[in-house]
Formats: sequence, C-alpha cells, structure tokens
Amino acid sequence: MSLVISCYAAICGGLMGSYLHVAATRVPLRLSFWGRSRCEGCRRVLGPSELIPIVSYVIQSGKCKHCRMPLSISYPLIEIASAGLYLLAWLLIGLRLELVVSILLIAMLLLVSMTDYSRMMIPNMVLLFFAIPLVFLRLCVVPVPFSWLSAISTAMMLLILVAACLNGSMGGGDLKLFVVLAIVLGPKLFLPMVACAACLALLFVGAKTVVGKFAPNTAIPFAPFISAAALLVYFAARI
Ligand SMILES: [Zn+2]
Repeated sequence: MSLVISCYAAICGGLMGSYLHVAATRVPLRLSFWGRSRCEGCRRVLGPSELIPIVSYVIQSGKCKHCRMPLSISYPLIEIASAGLYLLAWLLIGLRLELVVSILLIAMLLLVSMTDYSRMMIPNMVLLFFAIPLVFLRLCVVPVPFSWLSAISTAMMLLILVAACLNGSMGGGDLKLFVVLAIVLGPKLFLPMVACAACLALLFVGAKTVVGKFAPNTAIPFAPFISAAALLVYFAARI
C-alpha cells in the first residue's frame, strides 16, 4: 500500500512539474494559465500522448512528433526534479498538514527558479499566489518552533539582504523570496539556508570561472540557488 501511495506521489509530482514548466513560460509573458499546450515549432495543440511527464519526452526522443523540432531538456529535468521532491515530501512528512506547506513550497521554488533562470525575474504574481497560503499556514495552522535569539538573527540577516538589494548586488525579487522563506522555514532554518544559498552560488561562479565561462560583473539568477538551499535545509530538518 505504501509503495502504491509513493508511486502516486511521484506521478503527481511529475504532472505538477509539467504544469509548472508551462506556467513558467506563460506567466512572465502574461499569457493565460489555462490554454492547451502547443508545440513551439509548428504551433499544433499537443495530444494526450505528448503530455505524459518524462515518458513522452523519452518516447519522442526529445523531438516534436510532427515537425521534429527538438524539445528542451528542461522539460524532463523539471518533471524528474518535481517527481523526486514530491516523493521525498511524502516519505519524510506523510499525511500531515505540513504536507500542504511542502506541496506549495516545492511548487513556488521550482517556478521562481525557472522564471529567474530563463528570464532573470521572479514575478510578483507568482510570489503572492504562493506566499499568501504559505504564510497563513505557517503563522496560523502549522507554526514552527520560535526563539527570540534566532528571530533576532533572522531580522539582522534580512537587514543585510535589504542592504545588498539597495546596493544592487541582489535583485528585489530575491529579497521578497527571502522574506517569504524566513516565515515559511522559520528563524531556526533561515540563517543556514542563506549561508547554503551563498555557498552554492559561489561554487557555481567558481566552477564557471575555472572553466573560463564566467565574465566578471555578469548577473547570475540567484533564485535557483536560494530554492536549492531552501529545499535542502527544509528536508534535512525533517530526516
Ligand atoms: Zn511541432
């Protein structure tokens, strides 16, 4: 029975990843959430067999069935990441109200990572859509342990991040994402998350510099690193 539910969680995660990918391409262009998916090459409406997460990409060898235009590898990658994360959430949290927080948190982080990576932006609409239920759940339904010491250190870190935003070394969208995460992860996990995000971004820049593919003063999307760090500390705290 638990294997069946785990498979169900992974399948739901894959479907969610597929939908989030579509949303990540439509939201920054202010297009409707609800239209049918089309091939970006021939504009043909995709059939049900072309919308199965991961499977469709493999069966079609990563190309459109009709015009043979190559499909982005980001489709199966996001679907695999989403399936894995929702499966992990189910395995580590189980049938508790916290699972709702994790479902919303994973969706928000995947979505902002994609929009920031592809367009260097975190749409306010996306943050608001997820932040309202997440903040409500965290403050009123499933609160995290609170201590004054960690709350004060979180407030001080947020001030440092505001300063980083004001001097232009970090985007306003990143700051808003940090504020939402400070509430959702709670003060105890916030500092480790910021440190982890900074380390991941530094490792990325360092690796790109070593292979000679990073030009100085180039802006990099920070949301994917913030998201990876947030998920890392969120799940690590629940092992
Ligand atoms: Zn096509």
